[in-house]
Formats: sequence, structure tokens, C-alpha cells
Amino acid sequence: MTRLVISITLNGMRKSGYLTIAFDDAYLDTYKHAIHYLNKLNIKSTIAVAAGLIGKKLEKRPIIGFRECRMLLRSGHEIASHTLTHPNLLRIDKAGEDRAKFEIIDSKRVLEKKLSCKISSFVFPYIAQNESPALRKTAGAVYKSMRLTSDRPVFNRIPVKNPRKITGFAIMRKHSAAYLKKHIDYVEKENRWLIEVFHLVSDKNTKSAHRPKPYRFFMHIDDFKKHVDYILSKNIMILTQRDALKL
Ligand SMILES: [Zn+2]
Repeated sequence: MTRLVISITLNGMRKSGYLTIAFDDAYLDTYKHAIHYLNKLNIKSTIAVAAGLIGKKLEKRPIIGFRECRMLLRSGHEIASHTLTHPNLLRIDKAGEDRAKFEIIDSKRVLEKKLSCKISSFVFPYIAQNESPALRKTAGAVYKSMRLTSDRPVFNRIPVKNPRKITGFAIMRKHSAAYLKKHIDYVEKENRWLIEVFHLVSDKNTKSAHRPKPYRFFMHIDDFKKHVDYILSKNIMILTQRDALKL
């Protein structure tokens, strides 16, 4: 009898490890391909959008409109603030701190007003190791959590001790399927929380406005589907940044 109970627990009920699928910049192509796939599987993600760029373009790539934002909320995804105009807040000096504060605070106000919802997560733009203590304080005063992005895997812990120090891992074109699987395995084995940050997930890559090379934060939709299927083959809990904070 005891053995049967343990077996049931291991086979379905007990989860080990946490994963957040995050999409930074909310590209329309990513919405059409990747989020469409997640919706079919009933998986909820966190989408970080720059409020002032909704329905416009970033690096020549179209960003979702308010209509798509509302569809995302209706499907249970989380929308996180990603500033108003996507500046690199790390490069803003003392004189620019007022502008940075405006970017952080006003983006929340715009999203909440236009979408009639509460925005509790903030995502700093660009790959960054550290941000200014003043901006951290500003964002910490209005958001429940803040996320930075690293180009290396970072394994957060749940329960989250410091919601102002959450870090995501930016998935890039150069990362092999085996490399990504290795970290999923680690998440499950060590019961950690990994935030995988995707940007452009589509059937074709595009060049950035200021770089002649193909975009490095790209994943082909076929590879994305295989990766998500691999995550689902594990016993990992998939949840949004907001929901991870509740554990
Ligand atoms: Zn961004």
C-alpha cells in the first residue's frame, strides 16, 4: 500500500522545479507563433511589453497592440511592464534618473488604465547584471517583483527571498537544444526556478535596425515547440512571474 502511494506521487502529483516562460518585447510574430502554441497547451506565460510601444515597432519589428494584450489577459497570461519606451536604464546617469522614474512608474499607469488590470511585475530592458540602487528602490515601491536578464542561466529559489532580485536567462540562437535541456533537467533535479526569456520566436529571423547580422535572440518556432514539449515531459511546474511570488 505504501509503495503504491509513493508511486502515484512520483508519477503525477508532486512537482519538482519551477519554470517561467517569458517573452520580452511582445513581438507580434512571437504572439502569432509561440503564444498561439502555448494557448493550445493551456500554458501561461509572462509577457513584458514597453507600454509606449504597443502597436508600434521596436528595432523595426512590430509589437502587439492593445487588442492582443487583452487577448493575452483573457487567456490567463501575465503582462509585465517593460518601461514606456525601452531605454537602457543602466546607461541613464544621475541627471536622467527622473526620466527613468517616469519610465518605470508611468508604464504601469498606462498599462493598468488601458487594460483595466493590475500590473505587479517589472522587467528591466536589455541584458544587465546590475541596476542602480535608486532605480531598484523606485521600481520596488510600485511593483511586487523586478526581473533582470542574464545571458547565462540563473537558478532562482522558491520561495523567493528578495523579489527585487529575480533574474531570467535570455535564450539565444546559439543555444543548442541539448544545452537548454540540460538546464531543464537541473531545474527538476535541484528544485529551482528558471525564467527562460524569449524574444523573437517565429518561422523566420530578421535583422535588427542597427545590426547587419540576424537577430541573436531568435528561436525558430519548430525548436520552441520541441523545447516546450520537453519541459512538459518533466514534472516541472510552469507558472508566471507573478504566480511564482505567491509560493
Ligand atoms: Zn526588451
